[in-house]
Amino acid sequence: MTYREMLALARENLNPKVYGEHCSAGFVSAVIEGGNGKYYAGVNLDLACGLGFCAERNAASTMVTDGETIVRRVVCVDRDGALMTPCGCCREFLLLLSPRNADTEFLVCAEPEKTMKLAEFLPLPWETFGSAR
Ligand SMILES: [Zn+2]
Repeated sequence: MTYREMLALARENLNPKVYGEHCSAGFVSAVIEGGNGKYYAGVNLDLACGLGFCAERNAASTMVTDGETIVRRVVCVDRDGALMTPCGCCREFLLLLSPRNADTEFLVCAEPEKTMKLAEFLPLPWETFGSAR
C-alpha cells in the first residue's frame, strides 16, 4: 500500500461520534503497516476521567494481538482528514513495543510526500538503567 492509499484508508475510517456523556470516538484515525507487511487501522477513543487512547495505539494494539510488534509506517489524520504527528504517549508506546520502531516512518506531508522517523520525534526516550548502573 502506498502512503497515498494509507492516507485514503485513514480518512475513510474517520467516523466521529459521541456515544454518550462519557464516550466519544472516531475523531482521529490511523493506519499502520506492521513488520509482517499487514496493515492495521484504529480510531481514537475518548472516555471520561482521561481514559481512552489514540488511534495509533488502537491500531498498534490490534497489530500486537496479531503477534507483531514492529511498525514500519504510520499515517494518522484528524477529524478533517489532515495529517497529524504522534503525541508523546504514542511515541513512547511504539518505541517500547520494540526498539526497532525507532525507524518507524510517519507521513507528515502528503504533497510533496515527506516522512519523519520516530527517533526524530523522540530523541531521548524513557529508559531504565536498573540497579547495576
Ligand atoms: Zn497519541
